Amino acid sequence: MSRPAKVRIDLKALRQNVEIVKRCAPQSNIVAVLKANAYGHGAIEVAEALRGNVTMFAVSSIEEAVQLRDANINDNILLLEGCFSAKELLTCEKLNFDLVIHSDKQLQELLNAKMTTPLKVWVKVDTGMHRLGMDQQQAEEAVNALLGHHNIKGEPILMTHMASSDLLQAEYTSNQIAQFMQLITQLQKQNIELETSVENSGTILGWPNIVSDWCRPGVMLYGLSPFSDEHALASKLTPVMTLESEIIALRTIDEGECVGYGSTWKATRPSLIATVAIGYGDGYPRNAKSGTPVLVNGQRACLAGRVSMDMLSIDVTDLNGVKIGDSVELWGQSLNANEVAYHADTIGYELVTRMPLRVPKHYAA
Ligand SMILES: *Cc1c(COP(=O)(O)O)cnc(C)c1O
Repeated sequence: MSRPAKVRIDLKALRQNVEIVKRCAPQSNIVAVLKANAYGHGAIEVAEALRGNVTMFAVSSIEEAVQLRDANINDNILLLEGCFSAKELLTCEKLNFDLVIHSDKQLQELLNAKMTTPLKVWVKVDTGMHRLGMDQQQAEEAVNALLGHHNIKGEPILMTHMASSDLLQAEYTSNQIAQFMQLITQLQKQNIELETSVENSGTILGWPNIVSDWCRPGVMLYGLSPFSDEHALASKLTPVMTLESEIIALRTIDEGECVGYGSTWKATRPSLIATVAIGYGDGYPRNAKSGTPVLVNGQRACLAGRVSMDMLSIDVTDLNGVKIGDSVELWGQSLNANEVAYHADTIGYELVTRMPLRVPKHYAA
């Protein structure tokens, strides 16, 4: 028998989550965000499952885009950070990738490139995230320089990214939209009417009045809520990834004895401790604290002591009939990754995304 640590990826859940995107953003084309190996779910498998259900894909780098083309994913693919050097433009041309232009440097490189096939371009505007993007004036100039240029296919799409869409009611989001609208109005005065792209998952679910031509869902496709609080629509999402393993050892310890490295967990009563074959080498967060929930045969138990590289220990004293070989869910459809993340001072996004390669993935159609 092989090591029982594994990830299950439920592709049906993925497609159900797309239906929720469609319900929330019926007027928008969907750009499914597959960066970072589709948030740890496997970019090729996810792309194959989503083809035909979404309009196109987005990734963060040319390496990620090439990986999809090599797997015969021929849909449009957007590079969310554009090219990191002018050289990459040749690959974009050859493999037909759409480009974000977020800086003057990228703009000049594209305008000056010797190309035979024009590329679709998305102009990224910084409306308050202050990470990537042009300010209003730069964006206006960029749009004018790009329109009609021989290296550009059609008209550019205007995009921006929300910094705080997960905070419902936050004025920050309304202010960002106001900034974006100013640019749109400014361009309209010049008779320039461009398609737009605004919404990430938080905006799609939490800001129904914000509508653009191209929405860009990421985390909600994978069934995780972008919100830290309860949210009615987000609760309809189905987690796509389940991380599981099995109990490989069981022991009773006396009151006062400790478990794990650093002896940080001390039994306050005679205790039954189960060892699970999963650890931080398998993407389980080392800083998950004692008390983090774990499911054993569907029943809740608690992490006891520090997480090791390949194993962790749980207190199963209050559970009935636990035995070696029992299955353990670390997160998934019965235990939300966001709840586990809360105990490890992070967010579900990070837990699923940093899943290492050594954990085998099992896909269910
Ligand atoms: C990652 C990303 C998204 C998706 O964000 P989620 O919060 O996962 O929905 C959308 N747009 C851009 C530019 C991104 O980088």
